[in-house]
Amino acid sequence: MIAGLKRNRLKEVKRIVIKIGTTSLTYENGHVNLKRIRKLTEIICDLMNMDKEVILVSSGAIGIGVDKLQLPGRPQTVSGKQAVAAVGQLMLMNIYERFFSELSQNVAQILLTKDVTEGAETRQNVINTFNELLKMRVIPIVNENDSVSVDEIKFGDNDFLSYIVATITGSDLLIILTDIDGFYDKNPRDYNDAILMHNITDLSEKIEEAAGGSDSELGTGGMLTKVHASRLAAEKGVAAVICNGEDPAIIYDILDGKDVGTMFIPED
Ligand code: GLU
Repeated sequence: MIAGLKRNRLKEVKRIVIKIGTTSLTYENGHVNLKRIRKLTEIICDLMNMDKEVILVSSGAIGIGVDKLQLPGRPQTVSGKQAVAAVGQLMLMNIYERFFSELSQNVAQILLTKDVTEGAETRQNVINTFNELLKMRVIPIVNENDSVSVDEIKFGDNDFLSYIVATITGSDLLIILTDIDGFYDKNPRDYNDAILMHNITDLSEKIEEAAGGSDSELGTGGMLTKVHASRLAAEKGVAAVICNGEDPAIIYDILDGKDVGTMFIPED
């Protein structure tokens, strides 16, 4: 973690967690957006060439499983979701493996449950795995282990998971790619005059009141979970940016210090 990280110093970051959600990985019809995933993988490889260390937290297991199995929507039961995720996770990793290996970049899969990151010993084992992978220049691709996750051991959403991963790995920056430009003072889908907030320094819970729930069929996180995760990350000293992942090249803009998305700025 780098103390006192502001926009103009984001190019200094070394370890970055990038989180991408289901709505950014799929088209509105539910099929996989291969073009966007390919672009994201290329940019991540480029970041590795710049000597950054990247951890990718990727959703999509359930959404892609639903699409692959041609189901009418997400299953309602826990066991149904677990089964669909088992199918989708494999396809998701196949896509990543294929695109990353085209650029000779090795990747690894880490599937987590909340209890693993909460127990001191298991957490340390996971941290060791991350560190070993990053030392070998391998990109860890993380998801919740949806196929075995039941309520008691669930992170609930991948925004929260990305915050946990960013903090336990001592990352400098968390980037949450989503389908909206960032965090507005009110819901921009309902209000034309909603204003995008570029920089958040007040890390109190108050900020979460302006964020609503999720309105997407395939993912689970809404703006509230993103703001919650970003606020907690910044509180722990990890700079966090929520931004639109429509064009993953926005990651370069963030590192260039441009005022894109919403940055949660850690205290000095
Ligand atoms: N782990 C879930 C999946 O891969 C996603 C959870 C989320 O979108 O927050 O489908």
